[in-house]
Amino acid sequence: MPELPEVETVKNDLKSKITGTKIVSVSALWPGIVKDIPYEVFVKQVQGVEVEDVRRRAKNLIIKLSNGMNLLVHLKMTGHFMIAEDSAEVSSEGKWIKAKNKNLIDDRQNQFIRIIFHLDNGTILAMSDMRKFAYIKLVDDKELEKFLASYGPEPFSSEFTERKLASILKSKNIAVKKILMDQSQIAGIGNIYADEILWAARVHPLSVSSKLSDKDIEAIYQNIKKILKLAIEKRGTSTSDFRDTEGKKGKFGDLRNVYRKTDLPCPECGGPVKKITVGGRGTHFCPVCQKEVK
Ligand SMILES: [Zn+2]
Repeated sequence: MPELPEVETVKNDLKSKITGTKIVSVSALWPGIVKDIPYEVFVKQVQGVEVEDVRRRAKNLIIKLSNGMNLLVHLKMTGHFMIAEDSAEVSSEGKWIKAKNKNLIDDRQNQFIRIIFHLDNGTILAMSDMRKFAYIKLVDDKELEKFLASYGPEPFSSEFTERKLASILKSKNIAVKKILMDQSQIAGIGNIYADEILWAARVHPLSVSSKLSDKDIEAIYQNIKKILKLAIEKRGTSTSDFRDTEGKKGKFGDLRNVYRKTDLPCPECGGPVKKITVGGRGTHFCPVCQKEVK
């Protein structure tokens, strides 16, 4: 699932490519991607409207429109946006038939197009989503702010200090990995980065968060920033489905140490990486380097 680095990558791409463009028309191959309002109403509201800005909050993309509304997009498991020239062609099954960018055609992950926005700068914005869990909602500023208020601090915000992280971790007696992935506590971290952050911090994913030492908390804090920053620079992780707006894979997967590396050697001690389940999610760690604090 796209996490902060992947959604940030898409946000940066879209911000530079679609800000200031006007949505000329919309065509959905699967209208069900639009949630809460009838698809026809959605189309009427977004056609002829300009994109004013694109931002990210947690794992949400927010496309601000000139009519006071916002497209609130969650990519969920397999959703991603792609940009192509407007002469590109998509089949009725949502597959690219013709496009200058060969990544779009050659990579199977890009072949599940559900909706296309035709823009006035000669490009189209298409969203592919194999699993059909991604959604687009049309919300006004008030609804948007209400929805976003449920999220915890952004890891790169001034609000997210080491003291703030300590107060979050000390407030609960549950597995530290569960708190790192809880969007209401900290925004944007999911399964991949929680495993990588905890390995780098030498903290066991099942350690009870309230029992962590100041040293553990400092290490988690430093590695949240360090790993998310590096993953943004590498344009995310594509160990499964994620693709950027060119239909390309991110490169952080090459740098990961434990995520989906069960039985492979830990880069620190050489022992095998183990897999357990924490909060229903497959969790990868080194039992030698990461000792559980109960
Ligand atoms: Zn190890």
